[in-house]
Amino acid sequence: MVSKNKMKYFRPSSTHELHDYLVDVKEMSIAILAGGTDLMPRWNDDNGLRPDMLIDIKKIHECFGIREYENEIVIGALTTIQEIKNSILIQKYFGALSEAASHFAGVQIRHRATIGGNICNASPAGDMLPGLYAHRADMKVIGPNSSHSIPISDFIVGPGKTVLESNEIISEIHLKKSGDSSCFYKLGLRQSMAIAVVNFAIAYTRDSNNAFTSLNIAAGSVAPSIVFLNHFTDGIMNGTSLDEAIELVDKDIFPIDDIRASADYRRTVLKNVLKYTFRHELHENCE
Ligand SMILES: Cc1cc2nc3c(=O)[nH]c(=O)nc-3n(C[C@H](O)[C@H](O)[C@H](O)COP(=O)(O)OP(=O)(O)OC[C@H]3O[C@@H](n4cnc5c(N)ncnc54)[C@H](O)[C@@H]3O)c2cc1C
Repeated sequence: MVSKNKMKYFRPSSTHELHDYLVDVKEMSIAILAGGTDLMPRWNDDNGLRPDMLIDIKKIHECFGIREYENEIVIGALTTIQEIKNSILIQKYFGALSEAASHFAGVQIRHRATIGGNICNASPAGDMLPGLYAHRADMKVIGPNSSHSIPISDFIVGPGKTVLESNEIISEIHLKKSGDSSCFYKLGLRQSMAIAVVNFAIAYTRDSNNAFTSLNIAAGSVAPSIVFLNHFTDGIMNGTSLDEAIELVDKDIFPIDDIRASADYRRTVLKNVLKYTFRHELHENCE
């Protein structure tokens, strides 16, 4: 629900303050503001339509920082992409997220854009999403009366759509220290400031013979939301040759034509780059 009325602005400094406030604004249309790099350009395209209330969450201290615990890493939703790029912890445990942050936009946007914003924007091309899917991240959602945790693959339900209620926010992203290695690949139409034509993340573990013991691949820009390449992964894990397994990717993806690329191009480039990655970068003996 949006209007051309004057918009109210509220900037809570804690989740308690946010909760207290949210109880009183049930009837209003609300927009949450983090870095604003998706929200502000969208408003420019929306013919001046605004929500009744803008809640700027940038001062909520619980949503900042990257913290290490015994079994998990917790990333505050307001952590910027630049902070993720610079983080030694993220580089150590979640290589795909570190690489995705390095390929994200340009330096100005990286200093402003947040990981929570990238998730809630729920773009099929969001660069942080494949790594979060591949590492099976959980979102901590808080609302006026409760908080709960939800896997990212259940949190995003379509392009631009999540299960969040209008009075809820993501406060944290939880990632288990599973011991998986991971990598990320992005193909854009240019080197920087590019929306992905295809992106994907691979998380895996291997035994002493170099055989995969776990393998999880999530791809973006090839379906309405991020998809797991389960048919391809099952093929590789079951010993199907790489040339045969790669054809199974067609069962996992549903690309469309748009201004950046045709569906055929996305399909072909995803398969070619995946094949290259397995053969040359993961040095997998899939013949
Ligand atoms: C020039 C440019 C280049 C870009 N390049 C890339 C790129 O390379 N890769 C890429 O993936 N994206 C890119 N983007 C998109 C954008 O920068 C990212 O999606 C960014 O992570 C959004 O974060 P934000 O903090 O700015 O979100 P905002 O714009 O503040 O919010 C985005 C949406 O999420 C909601 N929201 C934000 N935080 C929360 C929260 N904690 N809880 C609940 N709802 C929340 C907002 O209400 C809004 O609907 C680019 C954008 C621009 C303008």
